[in-house]
Amino acid sequence: MPDSSSIKHVPVLIVGGGPVGLTASYLLSRQGIRSLLVERHPGTAVHPKARAINARTMEIYRQHGLEAAIRAAGLPPRRAGMVVWTESLAGAEIERRIPGSAKGDAARITPVLPCLCAQDDFEPVVRRAAERETAATLRFDTELEAFEQDDAGVTTTLVSKVDGQCETVRAQYLIAADGARSQIRQALGVPMIGRDNVYDSVNILLNADLQPWTAERPAALYFVHNPDFRATFLTINGIDRWGFIVNSIGAYGFKPDDFTPERSIAMVRAAVGVPELAVKILGIAPWVAAARVAERFGIGRIFLAGDAAHEMPPTGGFGMNSGIQDVHNLCWKLALVLQDRAAPSLLQTYHDERQPVGQAIVAQSLGNAVSMGRLQRQPDARARPEYLNERGLIFGSLYRSAAIVADGTPAPEVGNPVTDYVPSARPGSRAPHVWLTPDDRSARTSTIDLVGQGFVMMAGARGEAWAGAARDLTQDLPLETVTIGDGAYNTGARAWHDAYGVDDTGAVLVRPDGHVAWRSASMAANPAAALREATDAIRGRA
Ligand SMILES: Cc1cc2nc3c(=O)[nH]c(=O)nc-3n(C[C@H](O)[C@H](O)[C@H](O)COP(=O)(O)OP(=O)(O)OC[C@H]3O[C@@H](n4cnc5c(N)ncnc54)[C@H](O)[C@@H]3O)c2cc1C
Repeated sequence: MPDSSSIKHVPVLIVGGGPVGLTASYLLSRQGIRSLLVERHPGTAVHPKARAINARTMEIYRQHGLEAAIRAAGLPPRRAGMVVWTESLAGAEIERRIPGSAKGDAARITPVLPCLCAQDDFEPVVRRAAERETAATLRFDTELEAFEQDDAGVTTTLVSKVDGQCETVRAQYLIAADGARSQIRQALGVPMIGRDNVYDSVNILLNADLQPWTAERPAALYFVHNPDFRATFLTINGIDRWGFIVNSIGAYGFKPDDFTPERSIAMVRAAVGVPELAVKILGIAPWVAAARVAERFGIGRIFLAGDAAHEMPPTGGFGMNSGIQDVHNLCWKLALVLQDRAAPSLLQTYHDERQPVGQAIVAQSLGNAVSMGRLQRQPDARARPEYLNERGLIFGSLYRSAAIVADGTPAPEVGNPVTDYVPSARPGSRAPHVWLTPDDRSARTSTIDLVGQGFVMMAGARGEAWAGAARDLTQDLPLETVTIGDGAYNTGARAWHDAYGVDDTGAVLVRPDGHVAWRSASMAANPAAALREATDAIRGRA
């Protein structure tokens, strides 16, 4: 054990510099919390694994000022507007589908479009943003080698991959964003619920000009149904840089070792349907899909996030999105506890809220994979209608925990909870999107844009007493009040009142992660007491 003077102390240590760890670093800084991130690789991702950043995740980046930078690194929205099934790129087309996010009525749900941005283009954007924050330190080429936690913190050994130097760092809390094979999760002995080894595939990154077969039908994905294999072209720049997944290789009699560069070129040519096509292979990476969730997301002072907490087939594009949404849920809670504005019990709600969401998303991603014939050789397999139409799953997560004050109202009735989203401000829901317009009609604002840093109380135009009650709390809680219908934020035809289920005297308290924590449909007899009681309960101080 090193002497205590050589031990570095940090409020939060983040292990893993993938999309989830990088986002955690950035979000903690935005909450004013110092953190250290360590990543064993010298830089960010080299393979474009994830590309689909869904609209809920883009809402988060919009609230934190990164939307424009991510869009600049990605493709224009028209590239995400279609998915194609075909016998080969040059051959007969089987089906086209418009994903739910590209349908016209998506604008009623969110002010934000999803974004197609390959993970190796996306991660540097978040890294740069995280590194600009003075509260954050990011160290690449640095590995967490060992850790031990006690009641007051986590003591870790970090090793430089450059010179082998060891360092002891003690953190009050640790975020394990160390990926699917999480060494931290394994060392803690956290069981995974679900299935490992669901199917195996190979990712091939390549250069080839595929415009002649794609430019007229710009799509995010081109699924190829060849008699001898199943493959997917993933649009990266839409010109000459493409991902190519050979799906379910075991089911079609292949082994990972079969994928030499020569064999890979031959398969790409067969999938395009052009035998002499010029193809350059840039990388080949086998992977195995799993469908499982950690039994616990929080173990003492250590929190699992992203692939360390849940693994799912990529059918649906949820892995990275749900990981980013995990740390969005966690970081404001860590901030309040570290600032002594909430009881440590608030951190238990991370598991209570995110683990059920992880289970639902894993189950639906697996359902997509099964319907697409990923688990066995199944020539007639067709993606089920839910595939890429998961609005309910993307926007409809309903949290139940001690950080939500139930108001006794029933959940909205939803025909299919995977595909259907019914806007609701019932406590636990994502605060719905409603456009608000100032008197001079200059620039409209979405309710989504009011949220981000601290708590936001949205109150009706006759809810002045709520604003007074909130003012009394601001010493102790980052809390802003916005009055709806006061001239600055008008709501046409009572759209806000209807979506939020309140009258002109009511109020809704939205957490920093955009979920409704508490709601009063109309004025309370003692608004100061009602709001104090609610905010105490949310912070575990009741
Ligand atoms: C083909 C494919 C397509 C996909 N498409 C999508 C999609 O469209 N949308 C989507 O949302 N998701 C998609 N995913 C899933 C997505 O890629 C993952 O969910 C995402 O990378 C998980 O991010 P993470 O930060 O949790 O983990 P990772 O990206 O795995 O990052 C973990 C990091 O931790 C580091 N690390 C591990 N141990 C240590 C240690 N001891 N010390 C220091 N560093 C350590 C690793 O080096 C790694 O960089 C896809 C996946 C695949 C395979």
